[in-house]
Amino acid sequence: MMAKDYYSILGVPKNASQAQIKEAYRKLVLKNHPDINKSNEAKTKMQDINEAYAVLGDEEKRKQYDTYGPEMFNRQFSQEDIFRGVNFEDIIRDMGLDINFGGFGSEDLFGSFFGGARQKRDIGQSILYRMDLTLEEIARGTKKKIGITHLKECSRCSGTGGEPGSKPVKCPRCKGTGYINRQQRSMFGSINTVTPCEDCGGVGRYYDKVCKTCSGKGGVLASENVEVAVPAGVTNGMRLRLEGIGDFGKDGAGDLYIEIRELGHRIFKRNGDSVMVDIKVPFYIAALGGTVSIPTLLHGDKQIEVEKGTQQGKRIFLRDEGIKRFNGSAIGEEIAVVNIEVPKELSKEERELMERLKEIGEQHKDGSKKRFGLF
Ligand SMILES: [Zn+2]
Ligand SMILES: [Zn+2]
Repeated sequence: MMAKDYYSILGVPKNASQAQIKEAYRKLVLKNHPDINKSNEAKTKMQDINEAYAVLGDEEKRKQYDTYGPEMFNRQFSQEDIFRGVNFEDIIRDMGLDINFGGFGSEDLFGSFFGGARQKRDIGQSILYRMDLTLEEIARGTKKKIGITHLKECSRCSGTGGEPGSKPVKCPRCKGTGYINRQQRSMFGSINTVTPCEDCGGVGRYYDKVCKTCSGKGGVLASENVEVAVPAGVTNGMRLRLEGIGDFGKDGAGDLYIEIRELGHRIFKRNGDSVMVDIKVPFYIAALGGTVSIPTLLHGDKQIEVEKGTQQGKRIFLRDEGIKRFNGSAIGEEIAVVNIEVPKELSKEERELMERLKEIGEQHKDGSKKRFGLF
């Protein structure tokens, strides 16, 4: 699927407020809604407009979209994710648009606007798991076993909800459609409302005998261990989707989302794919050059040569000691920032040497005194 620029679809700037986004969406609905504009072009446009609003109208989804960019966002989130929890009927009613939309709801977005009543699909709930990861784990990726509690297919009825040996019966009230059609008169004319059938829960059929284990739900609560392969380079707040590991549903299980929480590190700070660390370099090594010990994230301490005359704040780069890029193979670098260390206490011998150094340093070649010494 081609990545879509939701901002240009709604015609709003990147920093648009929720009020601006809402207003732009409202105007576009009035122009393109199939009840008003019958062209095929408007119909496709309306689907894009709804998709854009489903994302930008929700600060959480918008943040993810802004962070990942259109391409990665579309790769990571399915249409189902995008439209989850969005009810366009409510949104449009809240906007004060009094148009009879004839059953225009979020379900219709997956197909035709005029698809009419459809049987309710029983898709299981998705579940969210928050996973704490250390910087070391993030650097190269990791595998973790986690315990989750979710609805699992009932083994007694194999998820059908019927007692073994019982038969599915077509719901007589809705004649198997799962929906009840009601006509109401209002000042705008007659309005058709379609609601799920109460007798069968919108499914259109039920079993003459309900499963004793799951009471007809088809799923039972169970605790399970799941092994999660976390790719390298994930970032705080990122969500990984494990398809079909959420709650059981008769028409398919929900997903398991792993939300990443990056734990702070004692000495390293992350900066994209790089890691930064402050190191202490004794003033005499900085002046003369020498070997210093630099900690790395995964490979212990490394002995690195610093050149003579190294200054405060100098950056030393260690290749391939950073974070492996998410969805890539490149590894970032480590940046060690030099902090020149001046001793607080001096031994007698050190003191004598320093005094001598000071004397020399204060002496200009022409014999005049400098304002400060040491270097
Ligand atoms: Zn059962
Ligand atoms: Zn029914």
